[in-house]
Amino acid sequence: MIGATRDLASLARDAVRALPLYAPESADGALDLSDSVNAWGAPPAALRALAEPSAASVSRYPSPRSESLVPALLRYLGLESTGDVRIVTGCGSDDVLDAAMRAFGSPGDRIAFSSPTFSMIPLFARLNGLEPVPVPFAGTFDLDAERLVDAGAKITYLCAPNNPTATPVSRAAVEFVATRASGIVVLDEAYAEFAPESYADLVGRCERLLVVRTFSKAFGLAGLRVGYAAGTASVVNMVERARGPYKVSVLGERAAHAALADADDALGWVRRHARLAVEIRERVATALTTIGLAPLPSAANFLCIPASNASVLAAQLRARNVLVRCFTGLPREPRALADAQGSALRVGMASWDAMQRFLDALAEVRACE
Ligand code: PMP
Repeated sequence: MIGATRDLASLARDAVRALPLYAPESADGALDLSDSVNAWGAPPAALRALAEPSAASVSRYPSPRSESLVPALLRYLGLESTGDVRIVTGCGSDDVLDAAMRAFGSPGDRIAFSSPTFSMIPLFARLNGLEPVPVPFAGTFDLDAERLVDAGAKITYLCAPNNPTATPVSRAAVEFVATRASGIVVLDEAYAEFAPESYADLVGRCERLLVVRTFSKAFGLAGLRVGYAAGTASVVNMVERARGPYKVSVLGERAAHAALADADDALGWVRRHARLAVEIRERVATALTTIGLAPLPSAANFLCIPASNASVLAAQLRARNVLVRCFTGLPREPRALADAQGSALRVGMASWDAMQRFLDALAEVRACE
């Protein structure tokens, strides 16, 4: 091949070469609790919509901005009568977050966030030439709102509830940052359906706030890659420009639209299964506490269990065909993470039978310690 001896990787941008490839673990036949999707599947109404004859529509491009979803999303977020609020969609909320960084951050600008948070944030930041500015959480795992504002970053990213800690974030802290930060504030509510409350209503009062949501978690449509955000018209317009057209496929738009219907097999299904995940989460948290572990308070559909031997536990669970996500090298603040030397397990919720299998495997692993 002409030029085959050349190191082609050296032609890539430094920021790209330095990044790891995202490679989540998987194993056939294992009980997979390593991500936080909907273990119960997807709303029947969305599955039916996918099965409708679609040969004609799949040979055309989708609508450029998923227009059919906009009124339903505004209604779902309770923002239909809030003036000047618009919706932008994307290929998963990943895409919306990435586009928001590109829209508002020039290379060299800073993006502040409470750390640890969603692992893609520092990666998207680097890819977009931004400097990540991690800020420790307050002792209770709430945002240290003053330090986030004092960082004076061009973009401030908040994740409520936070991934990977699962911990809730207070309305007061979000509001403090959203009203005082000097730049754009991106509030990632990927897990809002499992939390006691959403802060999406703040877009009506904070014109620089962008609230990002997804169909990948409570809605059970992770494989279709549909995410969205709400914000004032001028913010949304810039994200749309940075994002590019046609990011949500015809099938993704169709399934998401069906899932948003106010019916028992659509939004009713989503709400029922979110409640179920929360009930099971509380039972699992209690069971973990009784065996001497200390999961962090969770407002999401997963639990974060700080443990200094998290990698050994994860490997031994894997040997028993149970996959959980292991985090090491997390910041040593707050105290619970310091005590666990920055290591933790993240465990997604599934049926009680599945969680019982996880708890049995964990008990077995710990008995061998
Ligand atoms: N935000 C958070 C906090 C997440 O945990 C995830 C996925 N793990 C995403 C955004 C991205 O989800 P998606 O692209 O599937 O919408």
